[in-house]
Amino acid sequence: MDFGFSEDQQLIRQTVRTYAEAEILPHYQRWDRTGEWLTQDFIDKLVNMGLLRLRLPEKYGGQGYSFVDCGIVCEEIGRCDHQIRYIISNAIHLGEMASSMHPDLQEEWIPRIAKGEMMSLAFTEPGGGADAGNIRTKAVKEGDYYILNGEKTSITFTGVSKVVFVSARTGGPGPRGLSFFLVPTDTPGVKTTNFERMGQRLDRGGSFFFDDVKIPARNMIGKENEGFIWAMTIIGYNRNFVPLACIGAAQKSIDETVEYVKTRQVMGRSVSKWQGVANELATEATKLEAARMLCYRALSLNDRGLRHDAESSMAKWWGVKVANEALYTCMRLHGHYGWAKDLPFEQRLRDCLGMESADGPREVHLGIIARDLLGKEHAPF
Ligand SMILES: Cc1cc2nc3c(=O)[nH]c(=O)nc-3n(C[C@H](O)[C@H](O)[C@H](O)COP(=O)(O)OP(=O)(O)OC[C@H]3O[C@@H](n4cnc5c(N)ncnc54)[C@H](O)[C@@H]3O)c2cc1C
Repeated sequence: MDFGFSEDQQLIRQTVRTYAEAEILPHYQRWDRTGEWLTQDFIDKLVNMGLLRLRLPEKYGGQGYSFVDCGIVCEEIGRCDHQIRYIISNAIHLGEMASSMHPDLQEEWIPRIAKGEMMSLAFTEPGGGADAGNIRTKAVKEGDYYILNGEKTSITFTGVSKVVFVSARTGGPGPRGLSFFLVPTDTPGVKTTNFERMGQRLDRGGSFFFDDVKIPARNMIGKENEGFIWAMTIIGYNRNFVPLACIGAAQKSIDETVEYVKTRQVMGRSVSKWQGVANELATEATKLEAARMLCYRALSLNDRGLRHDAESSMAKWWGVKVANEALYTCMRLHGHYGWAKDLPFEQRLRDCLGMESADGPREVHLGIIARDLLGKEHAPF
């Protein structure tokens, strides 16, 4: 086993860190306070860094990054703003879908997303998101079209995305009756609303309503009733990008807290000299390192074409949990300053807490791990 990163991977980490510290971090708190959207200048820089082409097909300028490489990018972006990670991972998902898209759709949409237009992925419905195989949105075939009706909710980039990939029922009940469609958001019958969330305000969570939306049959991704397979392919590796971005935010907080406790004086000595404080930081650093390894191991299994359901579930629930615990500890060790909005800790915690639900709540992941341990026959689901 090799636990190290290659020289190229270390270079990716350093390059992305330098970019994110200079171009993302200075805006992080302002985006949250003002609700303003990204400027064209910001998007152009993201595009020029090549971060939206990591896994696109070669003819669209794809960079051939492995999933481990992409994980490094997500972790480093997460250090500065977890929300920007969504733009990057969406472009990675597009790369994975590309070969199953109609050539005309590839020609139209891949360059647009690579140039910084937003896309959304819509699985979750008001009736529940954890059970992604049991959705109600329907697509009924009429000649060369499908007519789409239903509602999706808690969707990232609602209102700013130009295209949404939607799961819809085309067959019988359960996961084997689902298909996946590309729907331009300006199609007649598509409406959106946004709602207030505790964190990730830049990412604009909201609902999509589809009211007799007519979509050409060629907009189906892959084959009819195989949409769940698509969803699971994307969701599978993404279960590592989500915690890695949170781990990035938590690691940055640890790094900042280490500097703070060395200089802050309490009762005649620096806070770091109190063993309780030093032990807390050491404990959080240990948990984060273990979580990081879970994520990269699962991504490396994915890179080698091996199964990683249980490993990715371990990485998702454990990684998000320990990152949030570390963020809470860092906020607390900063005393009242940590809780104030001048410092980024409260925002990082608000942003990363949402990741407990996104990409599946921990109970679902524990269920997947339990199924691997016990066998399907003896597992809860
Ligand atoms: C920041 C953020 C961004 C998001 N972005 C998107 C997006 O872009 N696209 C998208 O489609 N969705 C998105 N979501 C929605 C997310 O995928 C759902 O929140 C998630 O799938 C869980 O669904 P739910 O919230 O409806 O919870 P429910 O399915 O209603 O579950 C509620 C609770 O029940 C418990 N539970 C659920 N299932 C089980 C089980 N099998 N066993 C035991 N307990 C269980 C858990 O505690 C769970 O939290 C986002 C969510 C957040 C917070």
